[in-house]
Amino acid sequence: MQSHPPGKPPKSDPETRFLQKPGFLSAMQPSLIVDAHEDIAYNMLAFGRDYNRSAAETRQIENASGSQAINHNDQSVLGWPDYQRGRVAIVFSTLFATPLRRATGNWDTQVYGDYDQAQRLYRAQLDTYRNLTDRAPDHFQFIATRTDLESVLADWSDSSRATHPVGLVPLMEGAEGVRNPSELEDWWQSGLHMIGPAWAGTRFCGGTREPGPLTDEGRALLEAMAELGFTLDLSHMDELSARQSLDLYEGPIIASHANAAALLPGYDGNRLLPDDVIKGLIAHDAIIGVVPFCAFMKNGWKIGDKRDEITLATLAAHVDYICQMAGDARHVGLGSDFDGGFGLSAIPAGMDTIADLQALGPILQAKGYHDEEVAAIFGENWLRHLRTYLPA
Ligand SMILES: [Zn+2]
Repeated sequence: MQSHPPGKPPKSDPETRFLQKPGFLSAMQPSLIVDAHEDIAYNMLAFGRDYNRSAAETRQIENASGSQAINHNDQSVLGWPDYQRGRVAIVFSTLFATPLRRATGNWDTQVYGDYDQAQRLYRAQLDTYRNLTDRAPDHFQFIATRTDLESVLADWSDSSRATHPVGLVPLMEGAEGVRNPSELEDWWQSGLHMIGPAWAGTRFCGGTREPGPLTDEGRALLEAMAELGFTLDLSHMDELSARQSLDLYEGPIIASHANAAALLPGYDGNRLLPDDVIKGLIAHDAIIGVVPFCAFMKNGWKIGDKRDEITLATLAAHVDYICQMAGDARHVGLGSDFDGGFGLSAIPAGMDTIADLQALGPILQAKGYHDEEVAAIFGENWLRHLRTYLPA
């Protein structure tokens, strides 16, 4: 069992920490991106999306065929050629299904009414990643171990190669796919090493729009997860459950996709992170993936609203907020959630696909972030977590 030392990083003056010297433009390759949250398997199974294609090609095909995907998940912003252009090397790719009470129509094939159904759907999504990576290993590789991780990263650092495989690290979102904590060992052996107990509320804890504490089953799940070394993803957990988990979880913790609630004045939901939870995450040496979704960057913004004033500079403010709180750039990363219930019309103005996340780099440099800090935020922080906690 990995126990996690709650070492707090050194503090420095928040006013000056990131203004010591301006970032210089180096001749190096742009930083690698690690994206900590994408519902790839869900989109493949619910809508037949093929992520070997570019986002532009997927849009063309879906628009021509009148695909349900556009009505329910907007125009795609993801695809293998876009990962290449954006140097997106690693994606935490989710296992996600919808509980029946939150389903919005028959179009959604990934809906469960009981835990056996949930288990089958979550398993099928893990199999989907195995199939995708078996069929197209030049495009995608399954990451179950540190060895798998280093092999993908070695490919990306080999500049003689024109293209590189994108590493997929599976992440369970909403833990109803685990019927009993005794099944965790089997999930671990299958290559799953990260679990978020909530999406909506689950029998384990309160979740988005369904507040509540950790339950006895939730405590048992966390205890068994820590025993095996699972990373706990606090995203979507109600803040009460999140605080309780920060107090008792003995394994590694992250928030794969969540923004700071304090930057959305008037926000009164339970999906974004209150300051004390962010501080707790930092104290656990956790990493928080900021989300470039307009509704998480401006309070009250709805799909269909204009996004003109919401830009990557807004996302940079979210990055900076967490860095200032931490006193360093080691606790923030990217967790786009792209194609996760929103698409092109709900991402920052000026962005077309995930490749455009690279434009965040110069914005951070202009704020005073050094090259190494930008690299940490883009990917190195997540890589540090994976290198520490994936099995060998
Ligand atoms: Zn989510």
